[in-house]
Amino acid sequence: MTDPCGECGARACEELFHGLLALDHSRAEPWGPLHGVSVSCFLLQHAGRLPADGGAAARGLLQAYLDGGLPAVQRLIGRARAANSHRVKAGAAPGGAARGTAVPVGREAPRGGFTVTIEQVAQGGTFPAAGFPERVRAWAAATLEVSGPHSA
Ligand SMILES: [Zn+2]
Repeated sequence: MTDPCGECGARACEELFHGLLALDHSRAEPWGPLHGVSVSCFLLQHAGRLPADGGAAARGLLQAYLDGGLPAVQRLIGRARAANSHRVKAGAAPGGAARGTAVPVGREAPRGGFTVTIEQVAQGGTFPAAGFPERVRAWAAATLEVSGPHSA
């Protein structure tokens, strides 16, 4: 038996995440279209992996999914792609918190405080298609409950 993860509280979360990514990359329904949402949940439950924006974009994606479902997520991703074409380099301020792996003070995610983790979404490790979107929705809600959308 693997020890629970110190960040999300799930067992073997890394292994499960790789399994999920493989399904995502097959582009099959229902996993492929939810790739961005799944990855955002996983990152937000692992503070050490958050991108330089502290997870702001990931939280926005989860909120969009909870509010408007997949169509809202796809609109958001479309906008982000457009914005990236004239992206401004963020975090260039002197002494700013732009360092890749450092988690800004006050931003540490509570350890294992999530009511839903990748372990529940995986349902034994196979991420069954039946009910998958609903489980991802619960995962997103549990993630935002602890780490956002307005936490600072
Ligand atoms: Zn974990």
